[in-house]
Amino acid sequence: MRLVQREAWGAPAGSPAAHQSSTRGVKIHYLGMAYESRVHSLCDDQVRRIRAEHLANEAEGYVDIAYNALVCEHGYVYEGRGLHKRTGANGDQNLNRKDYAVCALLGSSGLTKPSDAMLHGLRDAIEWLRKYGDAGDWVGGHRDGHPTECPGARLYAWVQRGALRPGGGQDGGDGNYTVRPGDTLLAIARRLDVDWRELAKVNGLRPPYSVYVGQELHVPNKAVGQEVPPYPGREAFRLGKRHPAVTWLDKQLVRLGFDRHHDGDGYTPGSLFTEYTRRNVADLQRSRPELSGDPDGYPGPVTWELAHTLPG
Ligand SMILES: [Zn+2]
Ligand SMILES: [Zn+2]
Repeated sequence: MRLVQREAWGAPAGSPAAHQSSTRGVKIHYLGMAYESRVHSLCDDQVRRIRAEHLANEAEGYVDIAYNALVCEHGYVYEGRGLHKRTGANGDQNLNRKDYAVCALLGSSGLTKPSDAMLHGLRDAIEWLRKYGDAGDWVGGHRDGHPTECPGARLYAWVQRGALRPGGGQDGGDGNYTVRPGDTLLAIARRLDVDWRELAKVNGLRPPYSVYVGQELHVPNKAVGQEVPPYPGREAFRLGKRHPAVTWLDKQLVRLGFDRHHDGDGYTPGSLFTEYTRRNVADLQRSRPELSGDPDGYPGPVTWELAHTLPG
């Protein structure tokens, strides 16, 4: 863990925040504003700026930077209020008493994709708070129990998968797929739009690459780090009309398992927006609290982003 202590980034040693003996767990936040990727030598500056903004915020009456820790895109963990200090970032006093707060230096535009280094840094911060700050096992996002987008769709998808380290060990950063009747490795790779050799490799499969029904396959490069293509606009999704974006959308629906409506021959990606497409999209919308108010089956920008970022 690469910890940058308070004095090292220009904060007075020891936060004046209230004592906190233990917590249920850790809540993950992001900046939620335009933020550009930068060289690490400028990260200190950003953390100092956040602290200055918090101290200047009279409405909140902060005594210090609000987070217990902050993590930059290079994986460094900045000590904020630190261990055994009550956060001010979770939304209200009740929520502040419940969990620690760790903020990723990640924007809602500009730098929006958490790097592997950042995910390792966030995991480092969580383990640090558990080991030395008596944080419990729970990990969530600022949006859990509080009306906010924070920490953004990508980071929240990672949190929901257990906030695991990317790559090795526990398969953090990857998705899963359960083999169904009639599947072959090639067919699965094609449907999920991944390289079949890569799929074979991460699952330890050798020639003749057989798979069996019910087998759990790890799917590489899913959700976290995946680029979300720009939302094509509502015109792209009209019943009976073709648009390339419908193929992209279909691939995500298949990846997520929202493919039970079809013409009897399985649901396969294609550019035509059909009534089956619409019903499968509606299933996705109904599965998400932020979309269930209007499950009309026509993807708006939030449906589009979730389709690309939810874990499979
Ligand atoms: Zn937040
Ligand atoms: Zn940095």
